[in-house]
Amino acid sequence: MAAQERARDGVVDLRSDTVTLPTPAMLERMQRAPLGDDGREGDPTVRALEARGAALTGKEAALFVPSGTMGNLLAMLAHAERGGEVFADAGAHLLNSELGSVVTIAGLVPKPMPSRRGAMDEAALADAIRGSERPGLIAMETTHNGAGGAVLPPPHMMRIHALGQSHGIPVHLDGARLFNASVALGVPAARIAEHADSVMVCLSKGLSAPVGSLLCGTAAFVARARTLRKLVGGTMRQSGVVAAAGLVALETMIERLSKDHAAARRLAAALSWLDPALADPDQVQTNILRIDVSASGREAAAWAEGVKQRGILVQASGPSQLRLVTHRHIDGAAVDRTIAAFAALGR
Ligand SMILES: *Cc1c(COP(=O)(O)O)cnc(C)c1O
Repeated sequence: MAAQERARDGVVDLRSDTVTLPTPAMLERMQRAPLGDDGREGDPTVRALEARGAALTGKEAALFVPSGTMGNLLAMLAHAERGGEVFADAGAHLLNSELGSVVTIAGLVPKPMPSRRGAMDEAALADAIRGSERPGLIAMETTHNGAGGAVLPPPHMMRIHALGQSHGIPVHLDGARLFNASVALGVPAARIAEHADSVMVCLSKGLSAPVGSLLCGTAAFVARARTLRKLVGGTMRQSGVVAAAGLVALETMIERLSKDHAAARRLAAALSWLDPALADPDQVQTNILRIDVSASGREAAAWAEGVKQRGILVQASGPSQLRLVTHRHIDGAAVDRTIAAFAALGR
């Protein structure tokens, strides 16, 4: 196992929770999964995963897709007509993914909204919708990647959903880390996803499955997305092999996310003791820390290189920001080593 070897070699990988490896239970389940052709009569393991995903998110149906990006893309295509406007907070992943935006690839028009900690300004959104000639979709994101793993307040989500409903505009939730939000709030994922018409969840981040995401919504919406999945080349065949790991993820890996949140809080507290300008532990709600190094006199890339020399991998995002993400492979010793590396560099 590459990451386990890296851990033994003393490398602590905080770049993302996507680096998590499948668990032994996942690998075992993958070997004995019943299989079929998911593009024909269906794969029984994929069907079981989709049923479980639908139940957990409180939706009628779910669709297994290769990635979260494809899940969001299919949601755009299934919800909105070409040329429709997509209202989302300006920092949303689906407006700012690495190579562009799934919104524009879907033939839709991005409408970035001002926001605070990932939550759109509700008055600005209402104004924008009133002024729109072709409203297509409203999209929210929780937990919010760009806002340091922030959890959207459910009452805010409820009001956004109501606004969408009053104008007949569908609401999609980018819930790549929905289960982190659920654990942080202490409420079932379905109680969060009920504030949107559709939701995408990732199995391959903190939940540790090797591959895959689910797009959930009404039966009619998912049927549309299933047809569109074929169009974009997302129909897989004996995909039960990977869906089996996703089933183990949903059955056994959700609750333990609280450990990742605790590790992130401990990291943030220790970094704030080194330098209060680095981190604010009160801002850390889940497993992501965004560290602003602008007051340190050193660029983010230099910090990343400096801690890398000490066996710690972090992500530099922009000239003044570092992103650290905790996950299953970050134990107490890894947190201690990270704190020591920052302390050594800060001197
Ligand atoms: C990771 C992520 C995605 C995309 O998921 P992939 O599986 O990497 O394509 C979408 N939205 C958010 C908020 C994410 O963090």
